[in-house]
Amino acid sequence: MTVGSWRDGTEAVKVNKITICGGGNGAQTLVPIAARNLGCAVDLYAPLGDEAQRLRAGVEAHGGLEVRGAVRAKARTHRISADPAEVIPGSQVVVLVLPAFAHEATLRQIAPYLERGAWVGAIPARGGFDYCAVPVLQEQGREDVTLFGLQTLPWACRVEEYGRQVQVLGVKKAVAAASRPAARIGQVAPLVERMVGLPIGTAGSLFALTLANTGQLIHPGIMYSLFARWDGTPFGQVPAFYQGLDAEGAEVLASLSDDVQAIRTRLDGTLDLSAVQPLHDWLLRAYGEAVADPSTLHSAFTSNSAYTGLKAPVREVSPGQFIPDFSSRYLAEDVPFGLAASRAIAHLAGVETPAMDRVIAWAGERLGRDYLGRDAGEARIPERYGLETLEQLIAFTMERR
Ligand code: NAD
Repeated sequence: MTVGSWRDGTEAVKVNKITICGGGNGAQTLVPIAARNLGCAVDLYAPLGDEAQRLRAGVEAHGGLEVRGAVRAKARTHRISADPAEVIPGSQVVVLVLPAFAHEATLRQIAPYLERGAWVGAIPARGGFDYCAVPVLQEQGREDVTLFGLQTLPWACRVEEYGRQVQVLGVKKAVAAASRPAARIGQVAPLVERMVGLPIGTAGSLFALTLANTGQLIHPGIMYSLFARWDGTPFGQVPAFYQGLDAEGAEVLASLSDDVQAIRTRLDGTLDLSAVQPLHDWLLRAYGEAVADPSTLHSAFTSNSAYTGLKAPVREVSPGQFIPDFSSRYLAEDVPFGLAASRAIAHLAGVETPAMDRVIAWAGERLGRDYLGRDAGEARIPERYGLETLEQLIAFTMERR
């Protein structure tokens, strides 16, 4: 990694090539944005099914991947492959833009091909990215690799035409990043900021980012609010997701946020948890003037124009008749790779989390899992990776390598 001057005269780490791992909405959004902003070659690693082939065909036919809507960019990829040996070597930075359940397998596939001293990040990190990544790198003797993560995906985005065009529906104003070793964030954040083209705040550690993951509160919390009392009858009108939140639902979200703040209060002074902000504060900072009425948590959701048109996840069971889709990411990712990860930290720290427990138990029932008991080891919790006590977890977080 070399430090160089950019066209605007600033100095920061320069890269010749990066690789983005994933073939979904976020990956197809980041490719052209990163290629334009970094002015370097961007490779794409897409091992799932025939995605690499479909992406190559789309890019070829369209003359590049194109992002439209709230952000505009178009760029050709350097190379697209389902074989890590073709796209990982030569990349100083590798970014996983994947649902969290694909992190570990992907890391295992790419680790043998990583350049010495490479940076590997997850956007978004979700909870416990460091616990799952460190053992994989250790198995392969790759302690030279720096890890980083982002608090959330900066864009609400959907593929419109696979391999050709993505629509960006909303952009966050600022997102926090963390690294491992934590002290390297001073180098990592400016590069990530340049790559995504948004202000990047810094979090004290990936541990802090696990607690600062707001998707873990918003997604399961709104699912709970919308559907905990659903009686099984199909409905004809699909509710708005974020803007469909009612006052009672906003209280559920506030209680989940209070549980996270209780963990922060217990651990403040031991670790830098300044990035772990109450949900209402985060929402106003992340969305800025898109929020027309910032006065309450409820109004900040319902008046946020970035959320316009986003519907609850449903399945159509007969024409025009819908039921909730409980297998959606909002539960299947954000509970085992989010809420359950933070709740596990609370448990080790001796902090009560009544709202989290209620939502995790309900979501678990819907997913056929008991994340607070029998199936806890399926969630990305510290104990699954041999971190059995708070002291071990803090020592792991503070390791320089
Ligand atoms: P997506 O559904 O578009 O991603 C699916 C892609 O992930 C697949 O196409 C495949 O390329 C890859 N993938 C899935 N399972 C895999 C596996 N087992 N092995 C290898 N690759 C696999 O997801 P997305 O919308 O790009 O979201 C990525 C992350 O960002 C998720 O954590 C999501 O929750 C988060 N996020 C997305 C948005 C959004 O607007 N898209 C907004 C906020 C956060």
